[in-house]
Amino acid sequence: MAKKSKSTDKAQLTPESHSAFLPVDSFDLVVFGGTGDLARRKLIPALYHRFCDGQIPKNSRIIGTSRSDRSDKAYKDEVHKAYHQFSSGEDYDDKCWDDFASLLNYVALDVSDEKADWDGLAKALSQGGDRVRVFYLAVPPKLFVDICKGLKTAGLVTPNARVVLEKPLGTDYASAKAINEGVRFVFDENKIYRIDHYLGKETVQNLLVLRFGNILLEPLWSNRAIDHIEITVAESIGVGGRGSYYDGAGALRDMVQNHLLQLLCLTAMEAPASLDADDVRTEKLKVLRALRPITKDNAPDDTVRGQYARGKVDDEVVADYLTDVGVDDSNTETFVAIKAHIDNWRWAGVPIYIRTGKRMAERRSDIVIQFKDVPHSVFGNAKLNANRMVIRLQPDEAVRLWMEIKEPGAGGMRLKSLPLNLTYADNFTVRYPDAYERLLMDVVRGNLSLFMRGDEVEAAWKWVDQILGAWQDTEQRLELYQAGQDGPDKAHDMLARDDNQWV
Ligand code: NAP
Repeated sequence: MAKKSKSTDKAQLTPESHSAFLPVDSFDLVVFGGTGDLARRKLIPALYHRFCDGQIPKNSRIIGTSRSDRSDKAYKDEVHKAYHQFSSGEDYDDKCWDDFASLLNYVALDVSDEKADWDGLAKALSQGGDRVRVFYLAVPPKLFVDICKGLKTAGLVTPNARVVLEKPLGTDYASAKAINEGVRFVFDENKIYRIDHYLGKETVQNLLVLRFGNILLEPLWSNRAIDHIEITVAESIGVGGRGSYYDGAGALRDMVQNHLLQLLCLTAMEAPASLDADDVRTEKLKVLRALRPITKDNAPDDTVRGQYARGKVDDEVVADYLTDVGVDDSNTETFVAIKAHIDNWRWAGVPIYIRTGKRMAERRSDIVIQFKDVPHSVFGNAKLNANRMVIRLQPDEAVRLWMEIKEPGAGGMRLKSLPLNLTYADNFTVRYPDAYERLLMDVVRGNLSLFMRGDEVEAAWKWVDQILGAWQDTEQRLELYQAGQDGPDKAHDMLARDDNQWV
């Protein structure tokens, strides 16, 4: 008989039990786009934190590259300044930064120039032996294939080399397929890390543990007990400095195709045989393939497109989208809500409502599992609420399972909904690593589980392309919503028609 595991009241995450702290071997990492926003705001700070925790060996090398000329020192100063601009500074240590900076170098290279000289990069990478070599492509996706070709021609793709592709992977199915084919010409599929930083978030990984580490949930995790599911990824910020990219993309391409569909897959997939990358990715792919197509027939009822107008966020008056982007007119959606269906045995008849938007009331990401009503109430007229599980991904990571209990006191049976509460902050006292810290170290370790396979990305684009096509065919109009509101009224009407509401 299996021995019962011992549980303790107080959860502890020791370095040994926290996989983000497993040491890695010395490696070389080239950041294409090393001067860009992503590198300065996320990648370099993430590497600094992993270094200070002792996870990155001191003889590793990190090489930033972009078109403009600058010295190693200028690059180090630039990313140092950016660290202080974008990080809270809580974990900063001068000595540690100096040690970390000794790993950093800079090489200028215009990767779109066919005559570019790759010798500088080759030199910076020389004498690395057979150590792991990571090429991180933090550049616009139109450069992905050129970079891979350049690496191959320059002889830099060693047996231990791997490539990281930032989202968005293309702008539609055809462009994603072309990128996949171009990159696979140089790197085998198992050397390609398509990153979606949502998958590096602690609570997103916790979804796997919650679902597959607890026997309680599985019997209930289907259309037998679940009425509907809601997935919300709300941002309070506007388009910021990304206006020129965003205006050609919109919320469906920018958020739904990757983050929201990944969350939907992890929520709805069957239990994989193991956490091996292909076991997990094959199950996610099955969900994507079972998504009911959204066509011109159901798009008007089952999708809502919105764009923010001037309004107030956090008591501050903010401009409308057109002003933010600096254009007179735009048909780009900054909000999208979709009623999706997964056509398989487990989920038949369960609507999955997803929504995402900019300039919404607050920044929050939630997955809500709304259970069904009990089949018959024995409590007469007492109000009985159906159970609900809310998985809060950010901020204030938590899982809350709302249950009915009896309100104490004489004088009749009164029921009350109260949550069984697994708030991270109440249970763990460690610092949560940023998603990029975890994912970067997974790349070095060769762990593909939290990265998307090519066929997954293509399947997601196929579904999204159909929606874009349906919007075009039906000329589906944009609904304006005031900044600071949770999207247009139509998004609420969509659920109200089913007697539901956004939580
Ligand atoms: P960015 O600030 O515009 O940076 C782009 C970088 O690419 C710069 O370092 C730029 O440097 C370099 N670059 C552009 N053309 C080049 C060329 N021909 N040869 C060599 N280097 C070139 O963009 P970003 O925000 O960092 O985003 C980079 C990628 O990550 C994009 O695909 C974006 O969608 C994705 N992403 C970004 C974020 C984010 O938070 N920023 C989040 C998720 C995904 P020079 O101009 O000096 O050459």
